[in-house]
Amino acid sequence: MGRAFVYVILGGGVAAGYTAHEFVKRGVSHGELCIISEEPVAPYERPALSKGYLLPEDPARLPAFHCCVGTNEERLTPKWYKEHGIELVLGTRVKSADVRRKTLLTATGETITYKILIVATGARALKLEEFGVSGSDADGVCYLRDLADANRLVNVMQSSSGGNAVVIGGGYIGMECAASLVINNINVTMVFPEAHCMARLFTPKIASYYEEFYKSKGVQFVKGTVLTSFDFDSDQKVTAVNLRDGTKLPADMVIVGIGIRPNTSLFEGQLTLEKGGIKVNGRMQSSNNSVYAVGDVATFPVKIFSETRRLEHVDFARKAARHAVAAIMEPEKTTEFDYLPFFYSRVFTLSWQFYGDNTGDVVHFGDFSGNRFGAYWVNKGQVVGSFLEGGTKEEYEAIAKITRLKPAIEDLADLEKQGLGFALTL
Ligand code: FAD
Repeated sequence: MGRAFVYVILGGGVAAGYTAHEFVKRGVSHGELCIISEEPVAPYERPALSKGYLLPEDPARLPAFHCCVGTNEERLTPKWYKEHGIELVLGTRVKSADVRRKTLLTATGETITYKILIVATGARALKLEEFGVSGSDADGVCYLRDLADANRLVNVMQSSSGGNAVVIGGGYIGMECAASLVINNINVTMVFPEAHCMARLFTPKIASYYEEFYKSKGVQFVKGTVLTSFDFDSDQKVTAVNLRDGTKLPADMVIVGIGIRPNTSLFEGQLTLEKGGIKVNGRMQSSNNSVYAVGDVATFPVKIFSETRRLEHVDFARKAARHAVAAIMEPEKTTEFDYLPFFYSRVFTLSWQFYGDNTGDVVHFGDFSGNRFGAYWVNKGQVVGSFLEGGTKEEYEAIAKITRLKPAIEDLADLEKQGLGFALTL
């Protein structure tokens, strides 16, 4: 049993949705394109899962957040795919790939052949078991990567109302979930090994602002230690977490957000991998001419910093997807991908954006006692990164612009004095 397509998108997440949208915009013919996804639903905006999806009132539910509502474009419902002659092969895992033969074998036993493959398999949540702790499958222990996880989390949250939750991990999944738990009337303790939250991005000063804000909402922080085991009741439901420092925290539920791993295994030994992802060039093309990779799974050249990186952010997934399709359909007109790294998060009433790179000296600015402040990162005399909390659309555009321009900075104290004004007047 088998089918053949000109273009196959492997994976059905954010990058897949935006890839399909771009193919349609550029005039793909009916029957040429297919999406194969393990998930049972058409591609959706994954960031909604830790935000609107977890609200106690009027939560976001599909079809409201199918791609491409995240960029205020049309919503790609299953009907849209049908109308444009795109085959959606959902609830179907690809279990092996042969890039020499240009075939994919699904878990249902079907062989799907392509001329061009776009790999958009994203990443999966790291499990505690990978760190020697068992109990991930126990009642009350949750992860958050896909819709099935989100539904489970909502059920567990509802049955834990008024109780205690422990959030393991201080990254954005941990921070966003902790905020959602508070809004759902659950007492939250966050546990992570680093000295402060969002350690990969925030400076201690920025982190301190958010931690104080969270504390004002009742969240407690246990830092510098890790989970070593769970306690369970006779039904194997979690009742407490035990930490390396000897602390026992009572828990009606636990959310684990300790990082992700790109889904590259289908291509190991077939495509060049680098920094944990599939290595692509500035056209998002892998070491095999017929295979492109986009989104969390791709390691690509970041032109502005002259090095390759893998980014786990939605904006990159969207833009890389569009770029890959441009390179496939209009190769002569498409230049090298020139992407400015961008990441954002929203928690409670707060909202921040970050552009570029957080290396070098940090210059903070603004009002850290209010809710409008930020930072520039200056490396080798140039602005390379910028962060802003509570900005307007124009202000965010200004910090993005200045980060891309990389202006020379002679005096850090002067930059600090000018603060946001520096970006706004440049
Ligand atoms: P994904 O969206 O993960 O899609 C991968 C798809 O591939 C999935 O459908 C998966 O089932 C499928 N797949 C994998 N292997 C196979 C296989 N073998 N066969 C068939 N299908 C397969 N980023 C931000 O910048 N800001 C945010 O606020 C933010 N919030 C987030 C909140 C949550 C809860 C999560 C999980 C992520 C968030 N992100 C955020 C990150 C962002 O969502 C990802 O960067 C983005 O989804 C990457 O898109 P992708 O298409 O590469 O991967």
